[in-house]
Amino acid sequence: MHEWALAEAVLASARQIAEQNHLKNVTEVTIRVGALQQVEPPILRFALSQIKEGIFKNAKFRILRAKSTLKCRVCGNTWEFNRKKLDKATSEAIHFIPEAAHSYVKCPDCGSPDFEIASGRGIWREDIKGAQ
Ligand SMILES: [Zn+2]
Repeated sequence: MHEWALAEAVLASARQIAEQNHLKNVTEVTIRVGALQQVEPPILRFALSQIKEGIFKNAKFRILRAKSTLKCRVCGNTWEFNRKKLDKATSEAIHFIPEAAHSYVKCPDCGSPDFEIASGRGIWREDIKGAQ
């Protein structure tokens, strides 16, 4: 249930931005979640709706998925991680342990399983809207 901890972190960070921009009523917060982040957007959205209060009372939360980019350590090729190309069991293994991607994903150019996650891990705040 770490979506609840994430929801609190998202609100804390959004609150800082709202205060910096003197927003009294936040209407929309957009969050981007990396494709390799272990988050279920519906659970995160639910958690946010349960704990929102004060300036976030009327806020809507938009949760977007970001693409993940992988970079081969052998040949330097970069490519996009596409969960849909994996079968369900593999996709779930990677969902719970992103490092497990190394057992299943190989560089499409040279076939090496030695790659790094260049982008798309983590969760970050994309945008915040509101009234002063
Ligand atoms: Zn390669």
